[in-house]
Amino acid sequence: MIKIKTKDIDQLHELINNSKVITLVTHYNPDGDAVGSSLAMYNYLKEKNKDVIAILPNSYPQNFDFLFNDIEYINAEKDFKTAKKRLSVTDLLIILDMNANHRAGDALEGVLSDISCVKVLCDHHINPDTYDLCFSYDEASSTCELVYKILSHLDNKKVLSKEVSTPLFVGIKTDTGSFAYSCNDKSVYNVTANLIASGIDAISLHQQIFDSFTFHRLRLFGYAIGKKMRYFPNQRAAFIWLTNNELKHYQYEIGDLEGLVNYCLKIYNVDFCALLSERDNKIRMSFRSKNKNVDVNVFARKYWNGGGHIMAAGGKSYETMDTVVKTLTKQITEEKFLQKNQ
Ligand code: 5GP
Ligand code: MN
Repeated sequence: MIKIKTKDIDQLHELINNSKVITLVTHYNPDGDAVGSSLAMYNYLKEKNKDVIAILPNSYPQNFDFLFNDIEYINAEKDFKTAKKRLSVTDLLIILDMNANHRAGDALEGVLSDISCVKVLCDHHINPDTYDLCFSYDEASSTCELVYKILSHLDNKKVLSKEVSTPLFVGIKTDTGSFAYSCNDKSVYNVTANLIASGIDAISLHQQIFDSFTFHRLRLFGYAIGKKMRYFPNQRAAFIWLTNNELKHYQYEIGDLEGLVNYCLKIYNVDFCALLSERDNKIRMSFRSKNKNVDVNVFARKYWNGGGHIMAAGGKSYETMDTVVKTLTKQITEEKFLQKNQ
């Protein structure tokens, strides 16, 4: 259970009061938790009449569009100059759902490191970098659960506005896979109950998040599971790989692969799985585990230039898809790294 220190809340309170220009930033390829925590913080600070803007390193998945009414945000990939300018006049930077500047992508990393404003971290990934004030709780199900705790402490009330509660609900639902992972602590249900008490429509939000596939996206899932999954029953592992051309064929848009990797874990004897997807000049990798002894964070850090959590992590490679497929197959079948952990 997260126990936030009163002195940290007091310090944040003072920082918010004393700051004129506040900017929020989150990780590259923002997911529901990144978008949700940023927009909840944005709406909260707007309610306090603060000058606040959210910076997203690149585009967000289209199914979160409904959260962006009346939101002033910068897509740094499309408008890097504006993002840089905003950061240069920022007094207070709030970093959400990422543990290090490089997670905001190559272009923003340098700017975030160079600017000398006060930097506050709100995150649930392990091994955070150093910031002026750190709300870093890896036991939180999601950054949104943590942001709820921070904001409800700040205002000393359990039920926040609907505008703040809606994006928080989206982040908790997506990061827990609709209460399937990181959900053994009653805290996440208590927080969710308080979000629902704000008057949000949980059923309609669920549909907007999860039942909003395009026809092509569902066909892409079918193809990936039917034709592109490699299964290693003896090693309790599976992975899916998708090339640029395959993604193009199914009219891929940002966010379309969200959730696909988890399908491998539906197989009863699969503990470890991966999704490899080609993006321009690199291979994006998602790793998942359903066995606490198979630590995909360690695996991603050690072999694939990434990290994350024990049961969900990501990484990348600049090798060709063929090479990555061969290397991963070797790691699963020969190096026994994953089995050693079991
Ligand atoms: P996903 O597979 O959904 O992109 O990411 C799963 C988890 O791993 C998320 O919590 C995400 O923040 C983290 N993650 C993904 N890619 C990276 C990476 O390259 N580095 C680190 N440190 N974490 C990552
Ligand atoms: Mn998260």
